[in-house]
Amino acid sequence: MANFGGFRNSLRIKGIPFIDSDTNKNETRICCPFCVDLGESPDSKFRLGINTRTGQSQCFNCGWKSRFGPQAVIRKLQLQPVHVAQEEEEEEKAKFEMPQGLISLAKHWKDSRWSKLAYKYLLERGMDLTSIIHKNVLFTERGRFAYRVTFPVYIKDEIVGLVGRSIVKDQEPRYLNTPGLRAIWNIRKRPMKTVMLCEGIFKAIKLEGLYYDEMTVAAVLGHSITQPQIDQLKRVEKVILWPDPDPVGLKGAIKIAYKLQSQFQIALPGIIPTKQADEMGGAEIEKVFRSVELLSDSLKNKYEFAAMKRRDDA
Ligand SMILES: [Zn+2]
Repeated sequence: MANFGGFRNSLRIKGIPFIDSDTNKNETRICCPFCVDLGESPDSKFRLGINTRTGQSQCFNCGWKSRFGPQAVIRKLQLQPVHVAQEEEEEEKAKFEMPQGLISLAKHWKDSRWSKLAYKYLLERGMDLTSIIHKNVLFTERGRFAYRVTFPVYIKDEIVGLVGRSIVKDQEPRYLNTPGLRAIWNIRKRPMKTVMLCEGIFKAIKLEGLYYDEMTVAAVLGHSITQPQIDQLKRVEKVILWPDPDPVGLKGAIKIAYKLQSQFQIALPGIIPTKQADEMGGAEIEKVFRSVELLSDSLKNKYEFAAMKRRDDA
């Protein structure tokens, strides 16, 4: 797709006024520079509408029209092209560099008082040595990820970032992610046809322990989903969303559901959990799991109502 990301900056640099649309963030309007050429009086009413994403542009005075509006305007007004989006794209592709000092906790958990505490922390969060090996949990006492059990995030077999959970009480932030991390945790190589997504790593570990044979269980590391994450779900047919119980979590689940619904079969629990998955017992989880149903307007309403109610109760 053509890239018009820097168009507004090109206008700003030359001091050309523009008015952004209130309803569509990609829409902006300028005084049409083509009107006079096409035999109309000069435009002073911002009648050239420009879509900075698609490039579609049209003047409602002279009728000038283009699918490459931003470039045409840049040429006409002799503006300096600014390629903001291009720079962002390159940044996104920049290779992740592993910080120094992180070591395998499975191999080194006995090394120090802190590594033992880290190991103990993971046991308390429901992991065992096998899963610590399997998830390749790392640990260090130095640098940004010091005193955090640190989970590599993979795309296929490549580590693209880290999520570090503090083991020190009151250390903020509790979760530290590699900047720009935009991948789902725990989707490696080929996911199964059904994927269950939850917000956080420890919830995914808990649910994976119960449904390992039936589906891939993974964490989106937040309450939204990005395009690079959706790209990781190639060949997946069904996505089950396991919501966090707080209002933000419930709303996030519905938002993700509607974002994904054109590409996957989407399902959510009909019984909306009141606790975090990793704080629930196996039988409790199973009860919620059995209530999973396909996304519908009534299910959406149920979640929105619960989110509202839980916000008021909080
Ligand atoms: Zn015009």
